[in-house]
Amino acid sequence: MTPPISPTEQPTAPPIPVPTEENMQGTSILTGIFGDNPYFQAGFGLMGVGVGLTALRQGLALGSTAIRRRMLVSLEMNNKDHAYEWFLVWMAHNASTSSQKRAAHTWLRSHQLSVETAFEQRSNGSSSALFRFVAGPGTHWFKYHGAWIQMNRERETRSMQLMSGTPWETVTLTTLSRDRHLFPQLLTEARDLALKGQEGKLVIRTAWGIEWKQFGQPRRKRPLHSVVLDTGVNERVEHDVRAFLARRQWYADRGIPYRRGYLLHGPPGSGKTSFIQALAGSLSYDICLLNLSERGLADDKLIHLLSNAPERSFILIEDVDAAFNERVRMSDDGYQSSITFSGFLNALDGVASGEERIIFMTTNHLEKLDPALIRPGRVDLNVLVDDASPTQAKTLFIRFYGESDEISKEDIDRMGQQLEELTAMEMRQGRRISMAALQGLFIRNTVQEAVAGCRELFVDRRT
Ligand code: ADP
Repeated sequence: MTPPISPTEQPTAPPIPVPTEENMQGTSILTGIFGDNPYFQAGFGLMGVGVGLTALRQGLALGSTAIRRRMLVSLEMNNKDHAYEWFLVWMAHNASTSSQKRAAHTWLRSHQLSVETAFEQRSNGSSSALFRFVAGPGTHWFKYHGAWIQMNRERETRSMQLMSGTPWETVTLTTLSRDRHLFPQLLTEARDLALKGQEGKLVIRTAWGIEWKQFGQPRRKRPLHSVVLDTGVNERVEHDVRAFLARRQWYADRGIPYRRGYLLHGPPGSGKTSFIQALAGSLSYDICLLNLSERGLADDKLIHLLSNAPERSFILIEDVDAAFNERVRMSDDGYQSSITFSGFLNALDGVASGEERIIFMTTNHLEKLDPALIRPGRVDLNVLVDDASPTQAKTLFIRFYGESDEISKEDIDRMGQQLEELTAMEMRQGRRISMAALQGLFIRNTVQEAVAGCRELFVDRRT
């Protein structure tokens, strides 16, 4: 039991220790150890310097942020915006020309590079790849009309753009406030350069998620007459497309969806794709290439893609039979596409809109197509593009060798005639030759070898 506290015995606060000689002795021992210790003093000194430097650094950081805010101006572009692509084209162009002395812009040598591959397709069908090195993610500097501009390219790989599946990228340009007027000038220059690069060229786009994105560099347009089709085929399709394009108001007045579908069918290597691309080029249209076996493509995305193609473009669906013919449709990497045939028909029919839509489909096997697909409204013009006819073989021959200085025009005509007769004779015997095979023969051989070499290339029509 605790004894009760008597009123006289009040609890008192503990006494405050008064420095006495004995306890002062302890302090003086400490002072003795540390105060006189040069290492300890140096430590204190260093600590002081450290604190001072940190404060200075923070002060400088604050100061520089304030200066940045007042004196610098930044422009951010992300890869959802057209300006982003235009700027990269501009950058690639200027970075490569600035090494040649005459360039108006200077780039500091950069150690972080990205490669941009451009495919160039020639009119004879061959292609080559060009590599351009551009400033990669990181910080780079360049001088534009006397002003230094910092370029910071950042890639956000962890979060992807929701629908297109591409990483976010931003380019931030920073310069002095007084040079801010250079930004619109630079972007205008970049836009003009990008559009000039497409002038006279064919732009091909492919589907990325639900968006259409440019695929490779614009290709040189192929002249329409370089694709030699049988008599009248070329004109028939071209006339139909032009007539359709001229009747927008006619469709609008009747409330008919402004769309047209074409199907080119025939054996491989007969020029179906080449013709569609050449026709698009001659009308200054782009091509939107749609692969129905594409990974991740589903019915809803397909509807979106078909009804949101960029203006002035043909939608091209190649080998349309392959997409629905196999029981399980696989893309190249073994992925199963989830497009259904009915979903595809729905997407073709689309919502009735005033937007123009032109779809070209190709197939090597018309017989495998479901009749529901070839119905008017889905396919309005169905055209056979066949193996070489005698006239086609002769015309292609003359196109290839006609301008040669080694041989007279009369000789070329005579040999062309021989080739025409040879093709006619082989065809009567049920044999054929594809235009692609003829093209390959003409590329590899001299004019003298061409007619003789041709005999071996005819194959039985059933093969
Ligand atoms: P398809 O789409 O019918 O399979 P392509 O258009 O892909 O044929 O042609 C393959 C190659 O053969 C191309 O390089 C093309 O230049 C050539 N070729 C095919 N048909 C023709 C043709 N009718 N006229 C000129 N070149 C042709």
